[in-house]
Amino acid sequence: MRTAEPYRIKMVEPLTMSTRAEREQALVKAGYNTFLLPSSICYIDLLTDSGTSAMSDRQWSAMMMGDEAYAGARSFDHLEQAVQETYGFPYVVPTHQGRGAEHLISRILITPGQYVPGNMYFTTTRAHQELAGATFVDVVIDEAHDPAVEHPFKGNVDINKLEKLIGEVGADKIAYINVAVTVNMAGGQPVSMENLRQVRELCDEHGIIMWSDATRLAENAFFIQEREPGYADTSCADIVLEMMSHFDGLTMSGKKDALVNIGGFLAMRSEEILTKARELVVLFEGMPTYGGLAGRDLEAMAVGLREAVDDHYLANRIGQVRHLGHQLVDAGVPIVQPVGGHAVFLDARAFLPHLDQEELPAQALAAELFAHSGVRAMERGIVSAGRNPDGTNRHPALELVRLTIPRRVYTDRHMDVVADSVIELWEERDAIRGLRFVYEPPTLRFFTSRFEPID
Ligand SMILES: *Cc1c(COP(=O)(O)O)cnc(C)c1O
Repeated sequence: MRTAEPYRIKMVEPLTMSTRAEREQALVKAGYNTFLLPSSICYIDLLTDSGTSAMSDRQWSAMMMGDEAYAGARSFDHLEQAVQETYGFPYVVPTHQGRGAEHLISRILITPGQYVPGNMYFTTTRAHQELAGATFVDVVIDEAHDPAVEHPFKGNVDINKLEKLIGEVGADKIAYINVAVTVNMAGGQPVSMENLRQVRELCDEHGIIMWSDATRLAENAFFIQEREPGYADTSCADIVLEMMSHFDGLTMSGKKDALVNIGGFLAMRSEEILTKARELVVLFEGMPTYGGLAGRDLEAMAVGLREAVDDHYLANRIGQVRHLGHQLVDAGVPIVQPVGGHAVFLDARAFLPHLDQEELPAQALAAELFAHSGVRAMERGIVSAGRNPDGTNRHPALELVRLTIPRRVYTDRHMDVVADSVIELWEERDAIRGLRFVYEPPTLRFFTSRFEPID
């Protein structure tokens, strides 16, 4: 029997319908960069799943109960209890969002000259590790770098790569290992419980701290329940607790799997790390009981943490991403396989084989998709990868357009419209032209660069 959304809608936000001429005009104004489009002209906005979730009536009503006292607010106690209950860590330090937590933990754990292995990089995570003087080392399995390879746990740490690094530099040169669940840059790909156990064993053997980028841990738990032997009858809530039992602590972006529009935190077992985090948080974020957030934000996050580990919510969430992905696969559209937890990624190289990577195929495809139907996506390819120190463009293996699905925001019918739009473009793909830069900032160029079509 088919199932539907495990919620009903009590408030609606009207969407803007626009004409092709209006969208073309908006694109010219935005320099063909979807980051520079006003959200008011986007019909279906799949730019990101970060901070774009719809909150529940329980979250909204909890916000009304926010304790806005400067110190000792009860809203902190509510967040602490929720983190203890859902993730199993005794100590919590709130931050304004995930990168605030990354900043603190990088300063606490890294001595300049050390290494931080991780299962593929993430932009803000690596930036803070480097800022603290560390070198990031990618230890994800090779399969993660190939869009066409099917693997149930494409985000796994390659134990051999990790052992090799320990052998080469020595355990005392490793600040900690950072394991992301799921792996965003690989396409929302999960890590298995077996893999977490193996990493823990190796860390114990060498006295290395095991930290988690837990941004999408609930979605990761769903994949374990579905794919890993022995977990079919375990709830996602219990799987999350077991996953986290292997870690010494975590950084969290509440804007993803805590179902809020702003917020994040650090959680840990060590009192020593807690003390250092409390010392630093007052300098960069706010008092240790609010960390740059309002009391109402802490309340909304406390409720969201519990809602996000619900089995029915997660089955529907991942089901919606697949509902889009499978329609594209059936029509022959090339996407990253298997479909991950938070997004469907179009393979722009295979979509536009007539364009050279220097003609910015993913950027061009994202712009064309918006012109075609008002669907806003994001480039993850040569533009996002930036330049080498010698000034030449980096040429990443993956040249992708990311269709990121906000949580509880759109219906499956919206996904059908997105699928129809992409499939129509696929049929007209030979007519899509490349783009070239007309303005390029020195760093993180994908946010603000401007482009024009190549004749
Ligand atoms: C979003 C994200 C972060 C950073 O969190 P922010 O809340 O955006 O600061 C860190 N890691 C991963 C994997 C993310 O997706």
